[in-house]
Amino acid sequence: MLKILATRVEQGCRTLPFPSALATLPERFRGRPTLDHSKCPDGCQACADACPVQALQAGGAMQLDLGRCLFCRDCLDACPEGAIAYTRDYRLASTKRQDLVLQGDEVPRVHALDQKMRKLFGRSLKLREVCAGSCNGCEMELQALNNVVFDLGRFGVQFVASPRHADGLIVTGPVTENMRVALLNTYEAIPSPKLVIAVGACAISGGPFRDSAQVRNGVEGLLPVDLYLPGCPPHPLTLLDGLLRLLGRIEDQTAVNYPRSD
Ligand code: SF4
Repeated sequence: MLKILATRVEQGCRTLPFPSALATLPERFRGRPTLDHSKCPDGCQACADACPVQALQAGGAMQLDLGRCLFCRDCLDACPEGAIAYTRDYRLASTKRQDLVLQGDEVPRVHALDQKMRKLFGRSLKLREVCAGSCNGCEMELQALNNVVFDLGRFGVQFVASPRHADGLIVTGPVTENMRVALLNTYEAIPSPKLVIAVGACAISGGPFRDSAQVRNGVEGLLPVDLYLPGCPPHPLTLLDGLLRLLGRIEDQTAVNYPRSD
């Protein structure tokens, strides 16, 4: 017992002081991409042609759809001028699908729930997760939220087993035909008012499975989505930041000023 206590003292507190202090991210972390239009040669389409999920639209005003992006860096490798780069800004969440379509150095925005919903969920939010055909990458990051580093429970947010005990639904995966009815049944079983949170490129847009015969290209049009958390998979800080902004626990809307990592 004394040995265990000594180890705990030696290790100290492992929980991130987030959101009161910015987290230290690894050098290779791939956060919000930036687009520098001024570097694009006339008529160049190299990045858009290289993108496996048509997340980029080049020519004229270049646009990047964060809801589709797999953060695979194919576009970076294809660009001869270095016009695209990852920042280390983990802030990717948005409450509106259209806000995930970025032009240049924009940052998506999360609009906090209204006062009534914040009164209900602001201090205690129970979520039921449904894997609607995901590869489980998003589940691993959601799971990581419960470890001592991120410690989601300290904000009153917890995953629950039964939809009857939940205040909201977290969806991962592109919504396969096999999971469509189960997903809708789970949504119906959650008492109103309820939230829907789409996690990862698959749940937002179908990800790499987009337009496959057996998937629905995500939850759009199937359920009313309150929060989009992009990534493939999203980093736990992206998930935590988005959830806390939705609950009005983080109000600062400025970008996290991490440098580009080319
Ligand atoms: S990083 Fe995103 S935008 Fe670039 S090629 Fe990969 S999926 Fe497309």
